[in-house]
Amino acid sequence: MTVYFIDGQFTERDGLAISIDDRGYYFGDGVYEVIKVYGGELYTAKEHIDRLFQSATKIKMTMPYAEVQLMEIARELVAKNNILVGHVYIQVTRGSATRMHQFPDPTVPPVVTGYAINNPRPMTGIENGVGVKSVADVRWLRCDIKSLNLLGNVLAKQEALEAGCIEALLHRDGVVTEGSSSNMFGVKDGTVYTHPVTNLILNGITRQVVLGLCEEQGIPVVEKSFTIDEAFEMDEFFLTSTTSEVTPVISIDGRPVGSGILGPLTMKLQKAFSSQIPSFIADE
Ligand code: PLP
Repeated sequence: MTVYFIDGQFTERDGLAISIDDRGYYFGDGVYEVIKVYGGELYTAKEHIDRLFQSATKIKMTMPYAEVQLMEIARELVAKNNILVGHVYIQVTRGSATRMHQFPDPTVPPVVTGYAINNPRPMTGIENGVGVKSVADVRWLRCDIKSLNLLGNVLAKQEALEAGCIEALLHRDGVVTEGSSSNMFGVKDGTVYTHPVTNLILNGITRQVVLGLCEEQGIPVVEKSFTIDEAFEMDEFFLTSTTSEVTPVISIDGRPVGSGILGPLTMKLQKAFSSQIPSFIADE
């Protein structure tokens, strides 16, 4: 049975109680992270926990634990749930208090919840590529915060799935921002293009890893936004996220990207990404 973390304790699902007054439940008033586990080890955990703290600061919420304590909670969730390949989910809400929009009394403690589950690498998408659907990005203007408020992302993902695609390619007035739960990259004439780090995207940890790999491999990168029309003209396209790693995008709105098969630069990055995963062979 999955072991969860809530209110300072590790609990099995049956013993778990969540307050109806939790502000995460009423308002999506909280922040979260998803940390990948490979071979029983947390991957880029420091980066994720740092970002969790940054998100909390941006919503003016004081974290109830230090970074090292959260790291330990994440490690214990992996150990208690015997996770080999999967992920840890951690969320922190602004606590439980009678419903009112303004912040509760500062004595109300934030609520930290977490779990860890086994979840294999999505090899089908990684090896064969996926299709995406362009969807208007109607989210708020603080997409840099990994907030629990995900309704815009949820609606976009659902629209993409209903069109037979795996992810939404979000755009604001025709300018590509990111995916509903991923960052988007185009490749043109050997250069990788992606949206710059602004309030309009989440600066993905995988995005940062991939940009580092581009540097190591001598692949030029331009962090500059591009339009949906330009996306159609890319030679290659891919998306990144903690759970989807480097996934090739082979079609946009049903139209093939480039030759419509996995591109060489994407495959090079996939290889580089896989080879720096801890205990990579544990999942093979
Ligand atoms: N953009 C959005 C909106 C996301 O929700 C996510 C991940 O869930 C990402 C980008 C990718 O971020 P990361 O690579 O840190 O998982």
